[in-house]
Amino acid sequence: MSGDKKPLAVALFSGGLDSVLAVRLILDQGIQVIGMNFSGGYCPDPREKKGAVERTAEQLGIELVRLPIDQEFIELVKAPRYGRGRNMNPCIDCHILMVKRAWESGQKHGAEFIVTGEVLGQRPMSQNKQGLMLVAKRSGAEGKLLRPLSAKLLEPTEPEKTGLVDRGKFLDIQGRTRRRQLELAERYGITDFPTPAGGCLLTDRNFARRMREALERGEDSVEMVELLRFGRHFRLDSGTKVIVGRNKSENEELRQRTPAGSVVIDGTHLPGPVGLLIPDRKDDRMMAARLCGRYSDQRNESKVKLKVGDDELEVEPASPEETAQLVIE
Ligand code: SF4
Repeated sequence: MSGDKKPLAVALFSGGLDSVLAVRLILDQGIQVIGMNFSGGYCPDPREKKGAVERTAEQLGIELVRLPIDQEFIELVKAPRYGRGRNMNPCIDCHILMVKRAWESGQKHGAEFIVTGEVLGQRPMSQNKQGLMLVAKRSGAEGKLLRPLSAKLLEPTEPEKTGLVDRGKFLDIQGRTRRRQLELAERYGITDFPTPAGGCLLTDRNFARRMREALERGEDSVEMVELLRFGRHFRLDSGTKVIVGRNKSENEELRQRTPAGSVVIDGTHLPGPVGLLIPDRKDDRMMAARLCGRYSDQRNESKVKLKVGDDELEVEPASPEETAQLVIE
C-alpha cells in the first residue's frame, strides 16, 4: 500500500475547536484533508487575527483554501429562507451555501466527501436533526456530508457505508455543552482555538444592528458590509453615511476601502480621525467634516480645518447632541 495516494476529503474549516476536532478525526483515519475557510463579508477578514486560521491548519498539516463571503451570502442575510438565529445570522441558509461552495471546490480538487464540525443539538435552530438533513440535501452534498463529532447519531454517509472511513471511530456528541470537545482537545493537545461561531459578525449584536440599518438603506454590497466593522457610523438627513475612524488602524482601513463615489475627510495640519462620506454629496461635506472635527484633538476649539477630498474646510466641530442624534448605534 505504501506510496498509494490517500483519499481526500474537504472540510469547512473556521479554525474553531469543533472544526479542528472534526478534521483530526478524519486525519486519524488516514484521509487527507483540505480545509475551506470562508472570509470577508461578515466573516473575519483574512488579515485579522494575524493568521490564526493558517497557523491552526499548519499545525494539523492540512492545506487551507480561502473562499469569499460574496454577494450571494449577503442576499441570504437579506431574505433567509430558513430564518435567523438570535441576531442577523441566517445560519441554515448560510451553511447550505458554504457546504455547496466548499463541496464544489472540493470536488475539483478530487475530494470524495465533505466534513463539518457540526454537532447535533448544539445550536437549537440550525443544528437540530432536521436542520442538518436540510443542509445536506439543499447543498447538493447529500450522502457525502460527514459530521464526525455526531456521526453515530446520524444516518451513515456514503464514505461510512463503503468503508472508506470507519464509522465506529466517530463520535456521538450531542447538545450545547462543550465538555466532550474540551476533553478531546486536551487529549489531542489542542490549546489555542477561537470562538465556536468562528468570529461571525452577524452574531454580534452591535454589528447586526448596523447591518440591519444598512440593508434598509440598500447598502448591501460586500464592500459596504465590510465597512460596518470599522469606525463610528452616522446617517445624515439626506441619507448619506459618514464613517469616522476610531484609531490609527481603522483610519488606515477606511483609506484603503474608500468606495467608488465617496470622499475621504482628513486633517490638514494635525493627525486626527479619517472619515468617509458615502456617497460624496457637496451639501453634506460640511456636516461630515464637523463630525470628524468632533473626534479630533481640536474638538474643543471653535474651528477646525479639515480636508474633504480636494476642498479645505474650516468647520465648527459637531456638538455632542448633534453626534448623538446622527449616530447609528
Ligand atoms: S454563524 Fe455566521 S458564518 Fe456561521 S453559519 Fe451562522 S451566519 Fe453563517
